[in-house]
Amino acid sequence: MPELRWIGHAAVELDLKDKKIIIDPFITDNPKSAVRLEYFDSFDIIVVTHDHYDHLGNTVDIVKRNSKVKILATYDLEVYLNKEFKIPFERMIPANVGGYINEGEIRFALTQAIHSSEHSDPTGVIVSDGSVTIYHAGDTGLFEGMKLIGEVFSPDYALLPIGGRFTMDPHQAAIAVSMIKPKKASIPIHYNTWDAIKVDPSDFEKEVKERGYRSIILNPGDKLEL
Ligand SMILES: [Zn+2]
Repeated sequence: MPELRWIGHAAVELDLKDKKIIIDPFITDNPKSAVRLEYFDSFDIIVVTHDHYDHLGNTVDIVKRNSKVKILATYDLEVYLNKEFKIPFERMIPANVGGYINEGEIRFALTQAIHSSEHSDPTGVIVSDGSVTIYHAGDTGLFEGMKLIGEVFSPDYALLPIGGRFTMDPHQAAIAVSMIKPKKASIPIHYNTWDAIKVDPSDFEKEVKERGYRSIILNPGDKLEL
């Protein structure tokens, strides 16, 4: 059974077919992390949406502990990780915003995100095992291209930042849901990690419902069968 687990903040685990995937593994400095670093010793792929510290997080530490895990990110970010942290290119899956990247039975695609970053452009990511498709928006403001992301990838689930200040807030994220049209549910992330991004997720839940869509509010550590 495909499974999603919200680790906390923007860190999301996906267990699809034979692959264990972690998106944005911000763990040791994450006050909401549900797990410790060793949890990722058996993982296959780390997706990094951008290099802000709360997203790149413990990527380098996990690569040093786990000899099989690979990083999927924009090529430019990978070049930076190679230069700065000496991570060899054979541990990287090169990518950029565009078409699918196939890794065994899992397909990935990077998407646009309206945000900033130090190295390379920020992204969101689509992950699909053929039966279920998940869109993790990364850090982003609201943008009209989300309509296109919904149209091109038809996600079943959309993981959307709602914390405001650095990303969409609950109202903007509810508008995003109307554009993406997730077939099963939207799940809010990137909120209440710190006071600066404190919001009430029920505001999101209410407006998403008014717009005719379903949302699922998780707590850090919660698992969801997809
Ligand atoms: Zn960011």
